[in-house]
Amino acid sequence: MTKRAYNFNAGPAALPLSVLQTAAEQMTNFEGTGMSVMEMSHRSENYERLNNETQGLFRTLFGIPDGYKVLFLQGGASTQFAMVPMNLLPAGKTAAFVVHGAWSTKAYKEAKLFGDAVTIASSKESGFKSVPDLSKSALPDNTAYLHVTSNETIEGVQFDAFPETGEVPLIADMSSDILSRPLDVSKFSLIYAGAQKNLGPSGVTVVIAKDELVDKSPEHLATMLRYDTHAANNSLYNTPPSFSVYIMNLVLRWIESEGGLAGIERRNVEKTNLIYQAIDESEGFYRGHADAPYRSRMNITFRLSNEDDEKAFLKAADAAGFVGLKGHRSVGGCRASTYNAVPYEACAALAEFMHDFRRKRQ
Ligand SMILES: *Cc1c(COP(=O)(O)O)cnc(C)c1O
Repeated sequence: MTKRAYNFNAGPAALPLSVLQTAAEQMTNFEGTGMSVMEMSHRSENYERLNNETQGLFRTLFGIPDGYKVLFLQGGASTQFAMVPMNLLPAGKTAAFVVHGAWSTKAYKEAKLFGDAVTIASSKESGFKSVPDLSKSALPDNTAYLHVTSNETIEGVQFDAFPETGEVPLIADMSSDILSRPLDVSKFSLIYAGAQKNLGPSGVTVVIAKDELVDKSPEHLATMLRYDTHAANNSLYNTPPSFSVYIMNLVLRWIESEGGLAGIERRNVEKTNLIYQAIDESEGFYRGHADAPYRSRMNITFRLSNEDDEKAFLKAADAAGFVGLKGHRSVGGCRASTYNAVPYEACAALAEFMHDFRRKRQ
């Protein structure tokens, strides 16, 4: 039996055990080639097949309609904060942002380096506990696109219903909840996600975008930062992060075997209900950060009623084998990241631990 940690890391994060075992088996001999994927030419037939198959898995699992490209890039979601405006925000147009946490704030600030950007709705005043009410905010004239962050990883605040933007392209940073639930991809013009939360290892960033958005980038833009470079070259313009793409391929197959996105969502709801229940039944001993309708199914953020209890909780959790429960350094408190690959058993063990700790402490 392999000893596995109760891993609640925010990213890089837990991967499915079966994926790691397959990767271990194939480490020295991938499909009879006598080498690891890491040692293989990215111009080889084997790698090209892996690249195309991984794109295909995204298309079927996520229900991506025709007319979209699936790109595998590098530089993380943070590079997309710049690439999106560099490619899609011309002079005279405005990029609109919904801001409800640290990552959307960063995306907005980065866009301002390249053109005109505005925040049309923000929940900053109320401490980033919710997705702001969008019913009262209008898009400015000349909006190039509306940018949303589907799940704010640090605050643990998640979008449920996405706004209707009509003709205006909707762009989403889905780094921390991509493929965690079924979604209508056709509502979005561009989706991006760093892989290290829900898709695989760090090193690859997935961009899913309508052809017309990635087929023609502005004339004077660096080759590597142009979507059209990567779209025209099937994400093989330069050396891709081949091992990360390979592990992502195995993760996508694992999602398929778990019943696809419907199956994954059902399990995520069950998993997180256990921990939210432990918070809600604690009579204020644990205090959830997010307002209930916006609670994330990926990052559960909570505090204890005082700093001493919080320190003692984190220390006891660490001793009991729970990893990654300390909240992000910018907000403090506790956070349990319960991405797709975090097993039900780990969440059940954490809920049990939370109940026990409270009983002993109260
Ligand atoms: C982790 C994260 C990022 C940053 O991703 P990198 O790949 O480290 O650049 C951006 N947005 C969200 C929502 C994230 O969770």
